[in-house]
Amino acid sequence: MQPIDSVEPYEQSELYKLRHTAAHVMAQAVLELFPEAKLGIGPPVDDGFYYDFDLGEDENGRRRTFTPADLERIERRMRQIIAGKYPLRYRVVTADEARELFKDQPYKLEIIDGLLRGEFNEYGDAEDGPPTDLVISTYRHDTFEDLCKGPHVAHTGLIPVDAFQLMGTAAAYWRGDQSRPMLQRIYGTAFFSKKELKRHLQLVEEAKKRDHRKLGRELEIYIMDEEVGPGLPLWLPNGTILREELEKLAYEMEDAAGYQRVATPHIAKEELYRRSGHLPYFADSMFPPMERDETRYYLKPMNCPFHHKIFAAKPRSYRDLPLRLAEYGMVYRYEQSGELFGLMRVRAAEQNDAHIYCAEEQVEEEFMAVIDLYRRYFDLFGIDRYVMRFSKHDRKGLGVKYADDEAAWLKAEEIVRRVMHQAGVPFEEVAGEAAFYGPKIDVQAWSVVGREFSLATNQVDFVQPARFELTFTNRDGRPETPYCIHRAPLGAHERYIGFLIEHYDGNFPVWLSPEQARVIPITDEHHDYARRVVAQLTEAGIRVHADLGSERMGAKIRAAQLMKVPYMLIVGGQEAAAGTLSVRLRDGEQRNDVPLGEFAAHVQRRIRTRSPEL
Ligand SMILES: [Zn+2]
Ligand SMILES: [Zn+2]
Repeated sequence: MQPIDSVEPYEQSELYKLRHTAAHVMAQAVLELFPEAKLGIGPPVDDGFYYDFDLGEDENGRRRTFTPADLERIERRMRQIIAGKYPLRYRVVTADEARELFKDQPYKLEIIDGLLRGEFNEYGDAEDGPPTDLVISTYRHDTFEDLCKGPHVAHTGLIPVDAFQLMGTAAAYWRGDQSRPMLQRIYGTAFFSKKELKRHLQLVEEAKKRDHRKLGRELEIYIMDEEVGPGLPLWLPNGTILREELEKLAYEMEDAAGYQRVATPHIAKEELYRRSGHLPYFADSMFPPMERDETRYYLKPMNCPFHHKIFAAKPRSYRDLPLRLAEYGMVYRYEQSGELFGLMRVRAAEQNDAHIYCAEEQVEEEFMAVIDLYRRYFDLFGIDRYVMRFSKHDRKGLGVKYADDEAAWLKAEEIVRRVMHQAGVPFEEVAGEAAFYGPKIDVQAWSVVGREFSLATNQVDFVQPARFELTFTNRDGRPETPYCIHRAPLGAHERYIGFLIEHYDGNFPVWLSPEQARVIPITDEHHDYARRVVAQLTEAGIRVHADLGSERMGAKIRAAQLMKVPYMLIVGGQEAAAGTLSVRLRDGEQRNDVPLGEFAAHVQRRIRTRSPEL
């Protein structure tokens, strides 16, 4: 049953079908133009579709790739196939028929075997166990038939010829495995109208300009260093200010919501992670252990077990609950090198973490308060497009991937569902992506240019408290196991700041801006006054510098604009005499003869209210 206020899953939308069909049409065109090509997989993705191909090697043993001219030819052929209005026909085949059909397609044969063994689906994604009701099916149009369970549009003519486009190519390992062949991926996108495609292409352009890796370097926010290691960002002074401002925000919000702050070490003994269940469930994502004096230690992949120990440090009664323990905690996860991406996917991340221990009857209220917190952050940062993904257990994974207590799963999932309905937040339910200890809510948000980010997760945990033998004395004087809500509304600094860089295009609101104002003297005769302005504004709690270099004023203004400083304060003889400033705002607006004290008060107000305005 679909929840009434849930959003339609993309996988069932018309747009998904359209793009899926476009992927098949592209594969047909490629096979016709490159008959030796071997087919990998070709699913729709969030902003389009792709298909992977193995073009073999050239005479020098190098892997063949597609050229821009190839893409043009493929696109031309696609238009003809679209014009043919070929219907897409579904049929169920036996394993033997499938093997015969794809006998020249080794990757498809591998997928057929994977399907039969229940190891992965037709997109090569891992599955949990042997299939209960395996159906092998294909979709055929014109001369092309693919291993596929759909869905598709009715015929190829439904792809608008002026609203699809091939976007480019990339190398991709077969099934994401670096030990397997490197395939050539062609990305494309498709929409229902030319207008939507045009809008999308504009956003893609804009997103490129805003890429946090590019802006992160230009605005001196963070660097990566080969010798330090991939996925291990170094925060520069400007980035550190961003982190500290976000932490300050979280402290204020959490203080007001009754959290207490704790601090815990970055490593712990193996036993702790055995008890928490991170070993073995999460071992793949952890750094390998270190050993000293016959004891094995691990870098922490999550903060939870430490907080559980703090809960257990003294007897707790129902009067102590809910107990909300918060920490900006550093966690280390061994992400595959192919998955690392700027600040978005790193190996060391500082999480806006907290664990809320509460009695069963408090879970709903506490969970609701967490959802509210999320919404206040979204309001503050002007994030108006977001969806929460509610990941549940699946029965197949019980005892393997998930704690083996279906009744407890259903109960926890029901609580989450009730709260999401009550809160009226957009959400979708997905089976099989929960945490091993309870249902999980991932928050996906879109930046103003439409880039999608997974920003935060939280979980309702009915497993770990029992594993850690956590109890409190209930009203009847008996020991009871608490629930634990894991929450991290600001996710990790790394990803959140990466998101904010792109969301704001580096034009951070005043309270977040690393440098809030820059004083630019017209000539060096005005350096003294510039220094006085800096001293006075610093006193007022404003982050301000003076540019006392030897460049001309125009060059200094351009330099400040490049760093996206909200206020440029031009000072000359007139300003020095009157104790005023010529204020040039980042957006180009100019305000002359502003008394220094008045400007300071204005900026303080902006900072205090965390206003998005200048
Ligand atoms: Zn398909
Ligand atoms: Zn946790």
